[in-house]
Amino acid sequence: MSEIRILHMYADMLDLYGDGGNMEIIRYRCEKRGINCVVDKYSIDSAMPDFGSYDVIYIGGGADLEQQHISADLIKCREGIKAAYEGGTFLFLICGGYQLMGKYYRDADGNEIAGLGLFDYFTVAPSSRKKRCIGNVVIRTTFTGATVDVVGFENHGGQTQDVKTPLGEVLCGNGNCSKSRYEGYFEKNVIATYMHGPCLAKNPELSDYIIGYCLDRHSGSHVELAKLDDTLELDCRRVMTERLLKK
Ligand code: GLN
Repeated sequence: MSEIRILHMYADMLDLYGDGGNMEIIRYRCEKRGINCVVDKYSIDSAMPDFGSYDVIYIGGGADLEQQHISADLIKCREGIKAAYEGGTFLFLICGGYQLMGKYYRDADGNEIAGLGLFDYFTVAPSSRKKRCIGNVVIRTTFTGATVDVVGFENHGGQTQDVKTPLGEVLCGNGNCSKSRYEGYFEKNVIATYMHGPCLAKNPELSDYIIGYCLDRHSGSHVELAKLDDTLELDCRRVMTERLLKK
């Protein structure tokens, strides 16, 4: 039986708008296919994990205060996470977690939280808290090889700039910056997004991209995933996209 091992970091502090549910969804979609899915948790005071032994490292979103709280600990993990990512471990990052893999996040009060600097982007929040990006989002993605409109919910002050390879094009909502054209960050083994929801719930292609990536990496060749009945998930998404994109 194949197995996927996920390290869910700071689940007790970075977990907004159902982000923890993303782990439930990956586990469900693995188990339906007879793939064992192990989700280990890491937080402040946990023993330093062997990051490279995981297939996926997952970090959810969090308010500025929680981001400050975990910052020093996250920095301690930098070399381990960097080596794992460079070795092919998948990074799945939501909002606050997304921001902290870049160069830095500067909050509305001007406090700068150092990022791990794995990627070139950086994030700055405007001083006015009234200028947050809040609401439903639809983005058009092509990274799975097909054109897929992904839906989610964003709530962030941070404006992420210098994103070289975004996850998708914004059809509705803000994305990386206020009214920007692009949302998230993508590499073969990285999905970073502002979308909560949890974002995998209505977007099965995203979960399957991550699961497929892990299985391909294990086997060294392409593994065809068994199809699941996604009628309900896709119906939910269709209702949302129709509502949001209606002129
Ligand atoms: N605190 C960050 C911001 O406001 C991230 C928020 C989040 O994770 N939703 O930009």
